Amino acid sequence: MDSWWGLGEWSGHRGEKLSLYLITCPFCGEKGNFDTAFHAEKKKPNGHKVLNFDTLKCGNCASYVQVFWSAGDRLHDFRMVPWPLKLEKHPEHWPEAVGRYWLQAKRNLKDENWDAAALMARSSLQIALREHEAKGGNLKKEIDDLASKGVLPPIMQDWAHNVRELGNDSAHPAPGQEPTNPNDARDIVQFMDFLFEYLYTLPKRINDYRERSNS
Ligand SMILES: [Zn+2]
Repeated sequence: MDSWWGLGEWSGHRGEKLSLYLITCPFCGEKGNFDTAFHAEKKKPNGHKVLNFDTLKCGNCASYVQVFWSAGDRLHDFRMVPWPLKLEKHPEHWPEAVGRYWLQAKRNLKDENWDAAALMARSSLQIALREHEAKGGNLKKEIDDLASKGVLPPIMQDWAHNVRELGNDSAHPAPGQEPTNPNDARDIVQFMDFLFEYLYTLPKRINDYRERSNS
């Protein structure tokens, strides 16, 4: 997005009104329980695009949050400040199981549970591959299977094998084993970000683009 006037035009959430259920109070974590304390809007000169400037008051803890939002034809999007610091959801177009493991990997990273972060990341990788109908019965074969079908490009195949090897120790622990290196755990989780971007977010964006150009 290269202008704020583009907010809600190319990506975002369904509907042309701000969906309060998407907003989580950054202070108490309550979702969608807000009253509008202030609203202002700015209409684009010679156009009908509107930018909305809302201050919402949480019905649970009485804190305020500023929400800037705008709608396009069928979508709307928003930015808020402050935002919840706790990572509470995965992107909604990811499969639920993939997102659940990914979220736990992220949280374990934040809490410095390096073994658990590596393990959850490795598991989210495996779910995503199986969700793409990888065959083979173990992670090594599943990675190679999807690479042979062109679902994973060679660079991702290589990297997926690195993740598999790094996560292997946590998945199949032995007595007296070394703890997972924090940098390895961070690398593994970051790979998940890239991989899921590639497997889920990129196709969705291309699809959204096609829907827009056909309408
Ligand atoms: Zn609150």
